[in-house]
Amino acid sequence: MTVRHRVPTPSLPPVTVRGEHADLVSLLTGRRWVALTGAGISTDSGIPDYRGPSAPASTPMMYDEFVSDEANRRRYWARSMLGWQSFGRAVPNAGHRALVGAPGLAGVVTQNVDGLHEAAGSDGVVDLHGRIDRVVCLSCRTFSSRAELQRRLQALNPDIDGYLPAGAAELDSARLRPDGDAVVEQWQDFAVAPCEACGGVLKPDVVFFGESARKEVVEKAYELVDSAPVLVVLGSSLTVMSGLRFVRHAARSGRSVAIINRGPTRADDLAAVRLDAGTSETLLALRADWSRSLTT
Ligand SMILES: [Zn+2]
Repeated sequence: MTVRHRVPTPSLPPVTVRGEHADLVSLLTGRRWVALTGAGISTDSGIPDYRGPSAPASTPMMYDEFVSDEANRRRYWARSMLGWQSFGRAVPNAGHRALVGAPGLAGVVTQNVDGLHEAAGSDGVVDLHGRIDRVVCLSCRTFSSRAELQRRLQALNPDIDGYLPAGAAELDSARLRPDGDAVVEQWQDFAVAPCEACGGVLKPDVVFFGESARKEVVEKAYELVDSAPVLVVLGSSLTVMSGLRFVRHAARSGRSVAIINRGPTRADDLAAVRLDAGTSETLLALRADWSRSLTT
């Protein structure tokens, strides 16, 4: 593990250098903090980080490609229907659970679309990039359940085995991407389900590449970040501006930033505490520290 120390912000007492993990403990103890989570917190749940070192080599569909071309939507939903079977089985891990009721935690902003923070029991999570378990109609903006759409897609495409890659009995997690997509070789004949309310085009309620997060969701995330003096990044390399902007905003406004991530991030130079570590192990250690301090 490596840790980097920066000059602390004037509004907060200095971070005492007592070793790597101890810095994080002393930064958080007695303070309110907000967690900004990314794909790294869900890798222990079997959802791969497509920007991480072991990422599958595939290119996510762009928003324009999805909305402009029915063939692209066919391909997307064929993959999604297959990927859903494994994606739907993902459960929260120790990292998600450790955040539930963590001392001082004001809330969670997540870049993940897997809903695992909510599944673990966290309240008031801001889902910056939407939720894979919801679908939105591009015409009437009605939200509906992805699980219900799965039943419709399966009814429309009963010969699903024909779409599996040759020799694959079941898609393994290596074929999954965080957006619930999966590799599929044949999709040209796939039947896409329209909106039941208006017949419009359905899109997963997740922010695609080339698409902006919803304004009201972004505002909620800024409000949450502004409500606490510390922002802790958990499992994100902050590759996209969508997440990075909150870290820059926090640093600019005199808040302390801690970053826990395996590998470099785009905001390492803004961090008062920087741990090159996994999120589950770090959060479990934090919980242990907190419960010790409560009993001594
Ligand atoms: Zn509709």
